[in-house]
Amino acid sequence: MNAELDKPITYLKGVGPKKSEYYKKLGIETVYDLLYHFPRRYIDFSSPVAIADAPRDESCVIKAELVKKLSAAVVRSGLSIFKAVLTDGQSDITLVMYNNRFGFEKLVVGREYCLYGKVTGDLVRKEISSPLILDMTSGEAVEPVYQLTEGINQFALRQSVRNALSSLGDFIYEPLPKWVMREYNLCALGYALENIHFPTDMNTCALAKRRLVFDELLTLSLGMRLLKDKSREQSGCVMDKRDISAYYSSLPFELTGAQKRAVSEVTEDMCRQSPMNRLVQGDVGSGKTAVAAGAAYFAYLNGFQTAMMAPTEILASQHYETLSRFLEPLGVKCALLTGSLTPKKKQALKDEIEAGEYSVVVGTHALVQESTRFKRLGLVITDEQHRFGVRQRAALSDKGENPHKLVMSATPIPRTLALMIYGDLDLSILDELPAGRKKIETYAVTGKLRERAFGFVKGELDKGRQAYIVCPMIDENEAVELANVKSYAKELSEGFFSGYQIGLLHGKLKPDKKEKVMRNFKDKKTDILVTTTVVEVGVDVPNATCMVIENADRFGLSQLHQLRGRVGRGEYSSYCILITDNVNEDSRKRLKILSKTSDGFAISEEDLKLRGPGDFFGARQHGLPKMKIADMSEDIDVLKQAQHCAAEILRRDEKLKSPENKGLKELIDRLFAQSISES
Ligand code: ADP
Ligand code: MG
Repeated sequence: MNAELDKPITYLKGVGPKKSEYYKKLGIETVYDLLYHFPRRYIDFSSPVAIADAPRDESCVIKAELVKKLSAAVVRSGLSIFKAVLTDGQSDITLVMYNNRFGFEKLVVGREYCLYGKVTGDLVRKEISSPLILDMTSGEAVEPVYQLTEGINQFALRQSVRNALSSLGDFIYEPLPKWVMREYNLCALGYALENIHFPTDMNTCALAKRRLVFDELLTLSLGMRLLKDKSREQSGCVMDKRDISAYYSSLPFELTGAQKRAVSEVTEDMCRQSPMNRLVQGDVGSGKTAVAAGAAYFAYLNGFQTAMMAPTEILASQHYETLSRFLEPLGVKCALLTGSLTPKKKQALKDEIEAGEYSVVVGTHALVQESTRFKRLGLVITDEQHRFGVRQRAALSDKGENPHKLVMSATPIPRTLALMIYGDLDLSILDELPAGRKKIETYAVTGKLRERAFGFVKGELDKGRQAYIVCPMIDENEAVELANVKSYAKELSEGFFSGYQIGLLHGKLKPDKKEKVMRNFKDKKTDILVTTTVVEVGVDVPNATCMVIENADRFGLSQLHQLRGRVGRGEYSSYCILITDNVNEDSRKRLKILSKTSDGFAISEEDLKLRGPGDFFGARQHGLPKMKIADMSEDIDVLKQAQHCAAEILRRDEKLKSPENKGLKELIDRLFAQSISES
């Protein structure tokens, strides 16, 4: 992009230092920023609705002829009301304007106007007050509507964008190679920027939008691919093919086809000259840990150590238990590095790790990364790293020894999105559950059946089982939220579940307290765990057989699916009861999907369709740069085209060195620089 466009916004007529401060609140500092501050929506004056069809409680455009002006009424000093009658040939409507003598006097009887606003009233008498009025002779059919901030109104913003386009529009240069524009049928960037702001009609607007969405997604795809190739450059700890059949035969079960495939993909990766960067993605219970153990065993046979990192202590100790159960019989020594060790013991353990006495070290991210030194680290396994971002992954690969990296994620993500979020990783998908897994019986009920649901839970508790009761975020305010969960737990323990032991888990607990609550539940010191969604991350308590989720409609389907994955981990039949008082048809339909299917990928596809990508992209956990115009769920077709195009561009010009790709390179730098400065 040309430097001319990076001029400060004050370059524009009518934007002084004061205005520029307001613009800054919108994230607009340069002319470029302004041009990329796209309208939120448009008012399309070219497709008016009939007055009789005007929707309730929603602004719309009507087109009508001014029939007569009614006399102005001064209600009291400071308030005068002006009224006029208009007709669209079928119905009449009364236009009401307040304190706007000037605007009212400009209106001409017999002329046709477009009005944009809310139509109120009943079947007989319709009214529209203080609408946006467009004289049909002005020729403008579509008006952009922008996100605003204090000190800047629609009119001023439009004016600034117009100024920017007319004074600097000639400096907008085309970043895309010609062949890309031809092949993907894209309009020029200059045209797109002009028409995203001031389209002559909605078709032009769609053309402009497609171009800009394409740019954004192409830039993202290219950036992610370059990141991946960057990590490819360096050589890692190259391993040799070794026979791991001893591992297979020592397991108490037969690995699924998907698990075997993943293990062989992983071991092949580790034999390459460049470090592995692989994501193993699989539904809860698909057996990711067994894949990880296979990889660790392979590294062991090659004389390398493995570090496994989990987000919490409890998960770390869980992984440690599993890994040592699988691997110790094969002579692989495993260690658990936790914060609860005394400093002395911790130091002793660290010394032993450094001396190479352990082949597998499990711990939390902090512990393992911090100060632990390895004798010969060859493989780093990270659990649930989807909570990390792209940038953290890149940072990790910048670390000295350059071990192979394996990431495990239990969040099934539709493939297209996974390609985007994990564009820098290779993907192994565990799309098969071990045989004999019991389905979690899932029911969606209203609050009227709460007592019955609790009664059912009681039945399970009396059989010696345990239960989770999940309260969702119902209040944005954390303090209120905490009070809610606390009083809810108190109510249960004094009421319906008096006599049972209840634990309370929430995000505000200190880590060691949290661990303790979880530990008590795991050790069966508590019968019920009342919890917020912090329980979501991979905790394994096989004796827990039921889960009740309050306000279930507040969650995404994928999240509900993850949550219910906390039960059904043992030999017993398991149940999940979703409680919601939202009788909305869509919400019921959504929850029904969970009763019907237990395929996490299918559920995430549904979620994407029904709710948009908010669930995956909501908290920006993925660390991707923020999109200005692209919506990864709606623009899935363009996303595919952009990915295809990115692959083709890099096939022709691996490092984007050729002059025709200079513009693209600048776009990438701009997008990723922004994401780094924001996080
Ligand atoms: P995930 O981490 O993918 O949710 P885990 O690795 O925790 O799943 O495995 C869940 C449970 O299934 C564990 O108890 C594990 O021992 C068991 N398991 C793993 N693979 C198989 C298999 N192929 N057949 C039977 N059980 C398995
Ligand atoms: Mg797991």
